Amino acid sequence: MRCPFCAHDNSQVKDSRPSEDGSSIRRRRQCEDCGARFTTFERVQLRDLIVVKSEDRRETFDRTKLERSVAIACRKRPVAQERIDKLVSSIQRQVETSGESEIASSAIGEMVMNGLQALDTVAYIRFASVYKDFREAKDFEDFAVTVAEAGRE
Ligand SMILES: [Zn+2]
Repeated sequence: MRCPFCAHDNSQVKDSRPSEDGSSIRRRRQCEDCGARFTTFERVQLRDLIVVKSEDRRETFDRTKLERSVAIACRKRPVAQERIDKLVSSIQRQVETSGESEIASSAIGEMVMNGLQALDTVAYIRFASVYKDFREAKDFEDFAVTVAEAGRE
């Protein structure tokens, strides 16, 4: 497993244990080069699910990517890692049990937005700004106002 800090290719497993519900294995790893510690999860994947980004862009559903984008949105926000994990797991379940072999990336984006909206307003706006591809500060402001108004209702 490549080190997320220095990109060195090898890490050592320091500890390995099943998650509470037994659906995954959590491994603590240490980079052989820089010594940084990080955690990986091993899960069963029933089948490959294809995420359709556009007409000619498709990629395999990747939980890690989803986790990363949610984590970035929640950075420095008072959102417990556990709640982030739960949100990502719930989205993964929805995606995997949809019965479809392909899912639009926009559908996943909506699921993330719905989940973040309940977790943290700032994280929600951050994610939405990337997801909706805001180009101007004004888009961002308009959206923040919409969120603030929705919150008051
Ligand atoms: Zn490293």
